[in-house]
Amino acid sequence: MHSIFYYSNELARYDFGPDHPFKPERAEKTLNLCYRYGVLDREYMTLKKPPSLAQEKLLLAHSQDYLDVLRRVGKGEIFQEMLKYGIGSEDNPPLPGIYEWSRKCAGATWEGMEKILNQDADIVFNPLGGYHHACRSRAEGFCYINDLVIAIKEAVDRKARITYVDIDAHHGNAVQEEFSSENRVQFISVHESGKHIYPYSGFVEEAGEGSGEGFTVNIPLPPKTDDEIYLEVFSRVVVPLIKGFEPDILVAELGADSLVSDPLTDLMLTNNSYTQIVRELKGLCGKILATGGGGYDIYRTARCWTLAWAILNGVEPVDEFAGLVGGMMFGPEMEVSSLYDRPYMTKGPEKDKIRQEVDKTIEFLIKLHHL
Ligand SMILES: [Zn+2]
Repeated sequence: MHSIFYYSNELARYDFGPDHPFKPERAEKTLNLCYRYGVLDREYMTLKKPPSLAQEKLLLAHSQDYLDVLRRVGKGEIFQEMLKYGIGSEDNPPLPGIYEWSRKCAGATWEGMEKILNQDADIVFNPLGGYHHACRSRAEGFCYINDLVIAIKEAVDRKARITYVDIDAHHGNAVQEEFSSENRVQFISVHESGKHIYPYSGFVEEAGEGSGEGFTVNIPLPPKTDDEIYLEVFSRVVVPLIKGFEPDILVAELGADSLVSDPLTDLMLTNNSYTQIVRELKGLCGKILATGGGGYDIYRTARCWTLAWAILNGVEPVDEFAGLVGGMMFGPEMEVSSLYDRPYMTKGPEKDKIRQEVDKTIEFLIKLHHL
């Protein structure tokens, strides 16, 4: 087995500004926790610097005119036309350096896929990837370059069957759009319902079109959905769907914004269900390309991704400083003195209502896909 963790300080320290919720430094916190818990020191693991992605590969996901605009923005130009391409909003500010930064973040995801396709890696994690909202000619939802679409296109061109699983709290809209007519890519997104949050899409009826019909799967969940209900959805719908499809490679967008303390969403998961899901994914496919994504409680996100990396590699995190004075504790795991969250459960009539709504969704999907 060989696994790769993509990281560079330069990319992790890129700043979207003090008022922007997206903090690439989560990747640095994740790396530090991985070292501290001894899950990044095996001889089969490599820490690699993200390479810059070639211009022609960017065209797999984006139009030339959008890339031209993004490149000018990256050079520090501000101009009226960029607004047409979604750049200049609060979510997607015109950041100096954004073109080169995005190219490198995407370069890691693309190279990771390349390594898996060439049998040079089995597990790849890019905590600086996962920009599932970047559209062909439009920046959206903090995303400028869609690394996921680029990597999946590369794999499909090389005849691989791909399952894309997106557990970010937001619908993977731009990935769905690219592959909705494709039957070699199974798209599965589990997210907070578009009735409540951006991108206001990803309803259960969106199931693909033409030869891709049935290969797009959306599982919208009501606000306050907790671990128990989330795991049920996963085992009754997601697991049998992936088993039926038998992918060569699983691409997992592991956004951590569905966790209980996330300031931008209303799902109430803890990393106990999140890690259970990563475990199940690992059991379903030997080749996994995992990326980051959302996650705006940066400490909780770092804990979550440290656990995900450990599980994908089948290693157990060990706190080498356990038992030492409190002064040794720092950052992300302070809250519970463990990487794992305390359990959380939604209760009472609220839970009953959520259960009813989710049961309907599950039944719809079971019927649609003959599960
Ligand atoms: Zn998200």
